[in-house]
Amino acid sequence: MPKKRKNRGRHKGDKGKESVVYCDNCGRRVPRSKAVRVTVPYSPVPGDLAKDLEKQGALITRYYVTKTYCVNCAIYMGILKVRSETERKVERKSAPKVPTVPRAPQSQGPQQSNASQSGAQKQ
Ligand SMILES: [Zn+2]
Repeated sequence: MPKKRKNRGRHKGDKGKESVVYCDNCGRRVPRSKAVRVTVPYSPVPGDLAKDLEKQGALITRYYVTKTYCVNCAIYMGILKVRSETERKVERKSAPKVPTVPRAPQSQGPQQSNASQSGAQKQ
């Protein structure tokens, strides 16, 4: 049977059942692997007022709120976009969460190998 998406729109693999979560916007029941989770900074104080208060020296805490949405609401809110038929077949690669900083001993290893490779290319 032809598949619309490689992962069938979910990431549960061949696991059988899984728990259900509720969309925070519309309340729809969504399988946990299909739901879209977004972490958004939230401040109880509006932006302009917060800037003024911070200039005066007030400390305003920012909370990070994780929201769960169904696919319908995620598309409506602009979190997801509808992809073309060919684009759907390719898995989305998310950006690495931790920035990769090369360490000194690790960076020396590839440099030496690069030097040997470049030397080999010159010959
Ligand atoms: Zn929803």
